[in-house]
Amino acid sequence: MNNANLPPDDDGKVVRVTGKRCPMCGRPAIAQHRPFCSRRCADLDLGRWLKGDYRVAGDETPGDDDDAES
Ligand SMILES: [Zn+2]
Repeated sequence: MNNANLPPDDDGKVVRVTGKRCPMCGRPAIAQHRPFCSRRCADLDLGRWLKGDYRVAGDETPGDDDDAES
């Protein structure tokens, strides 16, 4: 008995689809860049994080209103 009939493991050569979809563009995500479909989409998402687009709304504007003191 040997394992010769097992398929070769070509990780790194073959683009493996994860079965999920890229949250940026909706194309099938690949394992290498999951959960994104490509480095580009991963970078786009990172850029959004860095710019603060994902910050929770409700940030107070300093000096907007001050009813406490009169
Ligand atoms: Zn994408």
